[in-house]
Amino acid sequence: MVEDEPVIAQALVDGLRGEGYAVDHAPRGDDGLWMATEQHYDAIVLDVMLPGMNGFVVCRTLRERGNDTPILMLTAKDGEYDQAEGLDTGADDYVVKPFSFVVLLARLRALVRRGPSERPAVMQVGDLVLDPAERRCRRGDTELELTPREFALLRFLMHHVGRAVTKREIVEGVWGDDELDPNVVQVYIGYLRRKVDEPFGTSTIQTVRGIGYRVEAERR
Ligand code: CA
Repeated sequence: MVEDEPVIAQALVDGLRGEGYAVDHAPRGDDGLWMATEQHYDAIVLDVMLPGMNGFVVCRTLRERGNDTPILMLTAKDGEYDQAEGLDTGADDYVVKPFSFVVLLARLRALVRRGPSERPAVMQVGDLVLDPAERRCRRGDTELELTPREFALLRFLMHHVGRAVTKREIVEGVWGDDELDPNVVQVYIGYLRRKVDEPFGTSTIQTVRGIGYRVEAERR
């Protein structure tokens, strides 16, 4: 449960524990993101206005990382943030503040029962879009033809968007073979760049000297 207002947070924690849920509480958005990344939860109750990182960004970041934990957003009634935006970022449901605990509990139960939705988890970095369900990749309107290995490599890199991953991690994550020479990664990165970056004058796949590679959106 990610909520910064102490009174609401305490009431929710007590209420949910009283209903038999095990609850962890994060008072900041960045803490919530970290906890949701480090541990598995059946559901996340996520406030929007949070210190550190707002709830929409937390939600979007989790989805970009392939985290499908059901998310119930707590949105403000004043319409400053509309519910549609929350759902656009990948939230599964929302309740509008002020809400009754009974309503929140009912929504939460429904989400936990449903489990992670089978969303296609389309990944996007800048205008580079990868759709694992459809096995398609495009840059803007241009469809890219990737081999299965190239596709898996790009998926792995996009899954870790913004983070430098080592050749060793890539070999294990993409080839599933820790005996393989990590230098094979360099060869495949070259293939990928020739399809994904070079024709478009972009540098989405970046070399991080001494570490490995990182996928990052272009800074414009
Ligand atoms: Ca708040």
